[in-house]
Amino acid sequence: MIRPNIVMIQALFSQLLTDLGELEGDYRAFHLKDDIALSIFSFSIASVSILTMLRADLFFFQDAPSLFAMIALSRIIYVTITISVMLAVLKTSKVKKFDRLLCVWLFFTVIYLVAGNFLRPSDYTTASFAIIVPFAIYLLSPLRISTNAILAFTFSAGILFVEYFLKTGEEFAPLGGAIAAQLVVHTLGFGASIQLQSYRRKSFKAYIEEKDAKEMVAYLANIDPLTKSLTRRQLFNIAESEFLRFIRYRRPLSMLIIDADHFKNINDSYGHHTGDVVLRSLSLVAMEQKRAQDTFGRLGGEEFGLILPETNLEQAKVVAERIQKTWADSPVNIDGKLIHSTVSIGVAEAKPDDVSFDDILRRADRMLYKAKEAGRNRVVAE
Ligand code: GH3
Ligand code: MG
Ligand code: MG
Repeated sequence: MIRPNIVMIQALFSQLLTDLGELEGDYRAFHLKDDIALSIFSFSIASVSILTMLRADLFFFQDAPSLFAMIALSRIIYVTITISVMLAVLKTSKVKKFDRLLCVWLFFTVIYLVAGNFLRPSDYTTASFAIIVPFAIYLLSPLRISTNAILAFTFSAGILFVEYFLKTGEEFAPLGGAIAAQLVVHTLGFGASIQLQSYRRKSFKAYIEEKDAKEMVAYLANIDPLTKSLTRRQLFNIAESEFLRFIRYRRPLSMLIIDADHFKNINDSYGHHTGDVVLRSLSLVAMEQKRAQDTFGRLGGEEFGLILPETNLEQAKVVAERIQKTWADSPVNIDGKLIHSTVSIGVAEAKPDDVSFDDILRRADRMLYKAKEAGRNRVVAE
């Protein structure tokens, strides 16, 4: 009976908080700089408040100089530790380490404040202090809300215990009222914390979704939807930069133009849709034959280009023949019917006096024309 309730509460929380699933780690890492900045603020506020209390200590303990000295020393130790934690946090680039440092420091602060309360007289300052601290934990700590709640509860319970069970004979307000005030603070802090963290999570989610959509648009702009090869534009972009590399370093660079033979006949005999399936299959076969560093794209219609960096004419010819033979031996099976088709391939290599990629393209096109003239289903290289 209890188990389902816990599961239900967890589900409700993850809904309230915007469950980020596997993005959780990215979310925290994305906000780490902001979280560190916020924690520096907390360290500074805590240090300054603790030091300004020295003024009140002087007032309360003017007749007990040794007690005052001890308290002053404890305040200095607290501030020294806080500054050391602050320096460690500033150097952190890992979420886990940051969380651990902050959590330990918050726990240390809670214990220090509760212990310190033992010495102070009960007055309005103590009362408002007991209310501000839990709220500050909820609002300023980027740790998990449950961790913040445990820290804030430890503080409240500690303060109430010290105030009403350890300090005898100086109750400032009735215990019921103090507990009610704490409950109100916890409810407000908890609600505000959920609001704040879920807002941050939602805006992170929106940011990631927008980034993904942009990447998708860029991807779609570069991929030919039918053949899944690169678009002509993207193929030429890469070809241009490979050509610049050729000019600069004089490394070999070759290109193939692959054109389906009598493709019109395939469309005419089997229909345009079957023609599309054959084209996609041709594209996949060619992509399987190329190396990872080669770039394959659709030049248009039933014509493809393959850019081969670090490849001379001889080696490019070997690749071309492999593609031509593999394709000739890979009939496409459509509804049990085997459709045989062939390709002709023109091969060209970059030459020292080429001035642009177009020069290579033109030569490859001429070689393709020769292959067609010579009877198709073959490779011609210059
Ligand atoms: P060859 O290259 O051997 O000289 O003959 P071909 O019939 O392949 O040559 P041509 O360039 O005259 O015709 C190309 C044909 O390819 C015409 C067109 O219908 C077909 N084609 C071009 N793009 C597509 C496409 O995306 N899908 C289909 N199904 N057919 C296409
Ligand atoms: Mg053709
Ligand atoms: Mg053609």
